[in-house]
Amino acid sequence: MCLTVYTHVDTITSMFKTRGQHTFSLMKFVRYNHGAGPAWGIKTDTAIHALADLPGGEPSYQDLTNRRYLDWLQDAVRNDTLSQVDADEVSLLAPVPRPPKIVCAGLNYHDHAEEQDEEVPDVPLLFAKAPTTVTNPNSPIVHPRDEQVDYEVELAVVIGRTATDLNEAEVSDYVAGYTILNDVSGRSAQFSDGQFFRGKSYDTFSPMGPTLVTGMNFDPNAVDVSLRVDGKTKQSSNTEEFIFDVPELVSYISANMTLQPGDVVSTGTPGGVGIFRDPVDLLEPGQICEAEIEGIGTLTNPVVAE
Ligand code: MG
Repeated sequence: MCLTVYTHVDTITSMFKTRGQHTFSLMKFVRYNHGAGPAWGIKTDTAIHALADLPGGEPSYQDLTNRRYLDWLQDAVRNDTLSQVDADEVSLLAPVPRPPKIVCAGLNYHDHAEEQDEEVPDVPLLFAKAPTTVTNPNSPIVHPRDEQVDYEVELAVVIGRTATDLNEAEVSDYVAGYTILNDVSGRSAQFSDGQFFRGKSYDTFSPMGPTLVTGMNFDPNAVDVSLRVDGKTKQSSNTEEFIFDVPELVSYISANMTLQPGDVVSTGTPGGVGIFRDPVDLLEPGQICEAEIEGIGTLTNPVVAE
C-alpha cells in the first residue's frame, strides 16, 4: 500500500518538475485573511492559491484525508486555474481556530524525559488544553501577571475523520495534516494544581500554524523541531527522538476516546524548555518566540504583558 502511494507521489512530482511548473514535494494548506474574512489556500513558493474558487467550495478537514481530492487540487494549482494572492499580503490564521478538543502528550521525547530525570513512560501521559487557547501566527502570547510562562514547540496532528480504536497502520488515513503548536504553559498554575489543565489553558496559550502540511512526502517521525527566543535557540531536536511516534500515539488515544475532524493531537516537546534550564529561563513580555518544524515553517509570536 505504502509503496503504491509513494510511487504515485513521485510520478506527480517528477511530472511537475518536467513541466517546470509548481512542484509538490510538500502540500501546504494555509488558512488566511486577505481582508474579506477567513479563507483557505494552498501555498506554493510563489503564491497562495485561493480554494474559495473551487466548484465545491473550500475543503473540510475530512476532504484532506481523500487522496483523489488532493490529486485534483494539485491539478488545479498546477494549471493555475485558481486565483492567486501574494503570500506577503495576507495574515495567516491558525489552521484549526477552535478544535473540538486538544489532546497533548506530556512526556514524549527521550531528551525531555532526561532533563527532568523522569523514567521513560510505558504508555503516553495525556492531558488536555482548552480549545479557546488557540491563537494565530504573529498574534501575541498574553503573559498573565505573576505567572511563570514557558514555551514548548510541538508537532501537532490534525485529525480529518472520526476515529475510534485505530490500529497503528490505519492512523495516516485519518490525518488531515500536520502543523506546529506552541504548548505555552503557565508553570505556577501547573505545579501548584498538581495537574495540567489550568496552567495550559490561559487564552492565547496555543499559537498554531503557519501551515497545515498533508502526509504526502512528509514523515512526521523524522523532522527537525526547534524553538528560538529573541533569535537564541532554546530547543533543537528531531521527532526521531519520540518515545511514542505518531501512529502509536494516535492509536493509543483513539482506543480511549473518539477523535473527531478538527481534533488536534499535540505530540509533546523536546528538551530545553525554560523551567528545566539552569538557570530558569522563562518567557517575558517583549520577547519574540519562534517555533520551527522542518517542512511546516516558522510560527512566530510576540509575548506581551497582560
Ligand atoms: Mg507540551
